[in-house]
Amino acid sequence: MSIHLSKKTYDEMISHSIRSLPNEACGILIQEASSSSTDELHIHTFIPLPNHAAHPKQQFVIHPIDMIPYLTDQCRTIVGIFHSHPTASSTPSAEDLLTLWHTIPTYWVLSLQHEEKPDLKVYSLKKTTTTAYHKLSFVIGQ
Ligand SMILES: [Zn+2]
Repeated sequence: MSIHLSKKTYDEMISHSIRSLPNEACGILIQEASSSSTDELHIHTFIPLPNHAAHPKQQFVIHPIDMIPYLTDQCRTIVGIFHSHPTASSTPSAEDLLTLWHTIPTYWVLSLQHEEKPDLKVYSLKKTTTTAYHKLSFVIGQ
């Protein structure tokens, strides 16, 4: 997959993350629906979203309600989930891997560990555990 991120979008991700310190910042990345190729992303829009986490210095929570305007917009697709790590590297944390957003094609992490040299990385997440089932019993009554 080739990913094109506009300079403006990159700058907005950095400045929103610096403004949000000491907390983790988060947001979504949008692609115009006109570019519909699946192995090429053209990202020109960053939408900062509020971090609803109980401990926002160590985690981020994007509330689905904040995403609804973008989920129902036929002209724009959410192609990325973004958040910052104020003091850690840009490797996804164990908690990041529990994300509910693994179906979104790209997962972006910005490290501000060295604030003068922000480190942005992008990942694709694959959930490998399948849904398990176990047998219950039932009785047919009168
Ligand atoms: Zn994280």
